[in-house]
Amino acid sequence: IAQLYGPLNWFGTYYRVIQKNFIDMEKLLELFDEPVEVRDPVAPAQFNVPRGEVTFDNVSFSYDKQPTLKNISFKVPAGSTVAIVGPSGSGKSTILRLLFRFYDVQSGRILIDGQDICDVRQTDLRQAIGIVPQDTVLFNDSVRYNIAYGRAGSSAGVPMQEVTAAADAAHVHDRIMGFAEQYETRVGERGQRLSGGEKQRVAIARTLLKDPRIVCLDEATSALDTATERHIQASLREMTQNRTTLIIAHRLSTVIHADQILIVKNGEIVERGTHAELIANTDSVYSDMWMKQLADAANATYNPFLDSAS
Ligand code: ATP
Repeated sequence: IAQLYGPLNWFGTYYRVIQKNFIDMEKLLELFDEPVEVRDPVAPAQFNVPRGEVTFDNVSFSYDKQPTLKNISFKVPAGSTVAIVGPSGSGKSTILRLLFRFYDVQSGRILIDGQDICDVRQTDLRQAIGIVPQDTVLFNDSVRYNIAYGRAGSSAGVPMQEVTAAADAAHVHDRIMGFAEQYETRVGERGQRLSGGEKQRVAIARTLLKDPRIVCLDEATSALDTATERHIQASLREMTQNRTTLIIAHRLSTVIHADQILIVKNGEIVERGTHAELIANTDSVYSDMWMKQLADAANATYNPFLDSAS
């Protein structure tokens, strides 16, 4: 994050990279105020998220002239899980960026519990949403700080037992206790290097502490070893239980268990349904993807899809 204090003309570049990856966005907002494109309403409504139902109502969006999302409509009932799948560049991450209001939609509306997200303060909106990116970048600070940061963007004053409880639920506590300096261990550039799976579990612990009604998750594409995969899955279950969940899914185990699957192609939802419904149609884009993944899985030495699906 220290790199962000570069010359101003670098900022645009970094900012876009960061937006793309959802890296430490709360921190970024704190450092640089609000993103340029999005403004708070003059008279913001009070934001209440009693349930966490998410609705995309005919949403269209483009970064430039090319339309990126076209007439996207879907509803995620409170507490349920939607898996978003589709080829690279189809618009999956854009859906999550719009929910977090990194950009404003060009037409249509995004509602949370019936409230248009444009009518409320961005800080209130973002407090209701937890994000676990594919590649979590941790602050160059202690493990404790990195987890406690989940609480309202500030780690100050979070009781240690809440930090350890979150780490425990995220299945990373034992690992942390194995470090010489335990929760005071520095991570990041100058500290202990954590594996991708450990970093993601720290991000999950942070989200558990933040306790949002809605979570967005960009699942790791990289293959993980069996033990790591098991830890991550257990940790994710903890985080997504009773929370509205939007997952950019790469693992069939995740997709199979989703309440609803959206297949996005060229900015449009081309198919939707549960795994069983979609697989029943052998001509579907989804069936095709499924068959390809099974074939890939058969060639791989280890594959989490098969482990979980069997
Ligand atoms: P992947 O699976 O590779 O992450 P995705 O389905 O998440 O892809 P998006 O990241 O939503 O796809 O991108 C959708 C389209 O929008 C792509 O064509 C991409 O190049 C374009 N795009 C993404 N971010 C920007 C941006 N900040 N400015 C301009 N175009 C962008």
